[in-house]
Amino acid sequence: MKYHSLHKKATETNFKNAVIKGLAEDKGLYFPNEIKRLPTAFINNIEQLSNQEIAFTAIRQFVGDEIPKAELQRIIDETLSFDFPLVAIEENIKTLELFHGPTMAFKDVGARFMARCLGYLNRESHREVTVLVATSGDTGGAVASGFLGVKNVNVVILYPSNKVSEVQEKQLTTLGKNIKALEVDGTFDDCQAMVKKAFLDTGITSVKQLTSANSINIARWLPQMFYFFFAYKQLADKNKKLVFSVPSGNFGNICAGMLAKQLGLPIHHFIAANNSNNVVTRYLQTGDYIVKPSFQTISNAMDVGDPSNFIRIQKIYKNDFEALKNDLYSYSFTDDETREAMLHLYKKCNYIADPHGAVGYLGAKEYLKENRGVQCVFLETAHPVKFLDVVEPIIGNNIPLPTQIQEVIHKTKEATFISSYTELKSFLLDK
Ligand SMILES: *Cc1c(COP(=O)(O)O)cnc(C)c1O
Repeated sequence: MKYHSLHKKATETNFKNAVIKGLAEDKGLYFPNEIKRLPTAFINNIEQLSNQEIAFTAIRQFVGDEIPKAELQRIIDETLSFDFPLVAIEENIKTLELFHGPTMAFKDVGARFMARCLGYLNRESHREVTVLVATSGDTGGAVASGFLGVKNVNVVILYPSNKVSEVQEKQLTTLGKNIKALEVDGTFDDCQAMVKKAFLDTGITSVKQLTSANSINIARWLPQMFYFFFAYKQLADKNKKLVFSVPSGNFGNICAGMLAKQLGLPIHHFIAANNSNNVVTRYLQTGDYIVKPSFQTISNAMDVGDPSNFIRIQKIYKNDFEALKNDLYSYSFTDDETREAMLHLYKKCNYIADPHGAVGYLGAKEYLKENRGVQCVFLETAHPVKFLDVVEPIIGNNIPLPTQIQEVIHKTKEATFISSYTELKSFLLDK
């Protein structure tokens, strides 16, 4: 499969180079040249297939023969070594739990897939690759865990000081080995801006092969489409219209869902559920796309002022605003509304949601007020234990620590504090 840059200036490239580079030379995100619909029989018989078989069929065309069949199957088997249960919540509302992986957030799948692809694609190279990544919370842990011990790969994670939860911080600062954490005096947007600048700095790129493990990297972004197939597979009633509510920050997850629809998965509508960082909600209302600095909320993994994947969504809908509006709904919710939803879910539905999932739930509720005869699935993108300081006071109860969390919570944090791009640069060059 060939990929082109959405800024249209860089030359086309293959899967391997797109994964190793992350971002094209012209700063554009890579996008596949072609999207081929899957056979209807695949969708019709999905219940007979294992998750691994579904994932292989869905992603095969995007990898092409650059990774041999057996190797790609191994990568998928290792990536998907946990469950993705669909849980009933209320009438016409279900949730797909994406938090059963090693760091208990949905980003595990993308990070594990990308790490294994990179390990394979770079296996014979003598040049180390440095994965440089900015995190608003969950990416850091997922990338740290996914890439730990991968040969020829170093990982540098930038996270905003005091703006990630304790569990999240521990997950990205305690693993050691090839994983280094940089604690940045600033916001997530500052971290992301520094990472983008480093990619364009020839003073760095002439000596280091840098790549990104944010959802701008196709190997992180593409496997997220699996979730939508897994949800569909588990639905008892496949005739009722299906709507996904996706708690969104950088819009990688929902954009992967739109790709699943392009492949033929019968998805009626998407709901982008936002916290108060709501560029896209406002865009759909007004037609004006106005980027703003992000600010902190209790669903911190969605505190994004300039969603990096929105340009891919525009591409999928051929820059046709009306076509996009036909498929995509978006609502935004305050922290107070989110807290109320968490309490309601706990008291009335016997379900402990994390703040991001709760925003997804609210999106589904809002949509159902106006639209009948559909079923909504909201994605529960993280386990509530990752946001203990928010969740426990709301439900007035303790959440037992799952083993994945117990393993890191008592370890000692190791991070380097930086407050400028210059410090990032010397850190990268010193190693
Ligand atoms: C990253 C993240 C999101 C947002 O996903 P995007 O693909 O960036 O839109 C939502 N919830 C949680 C828990 C996350 O970690």
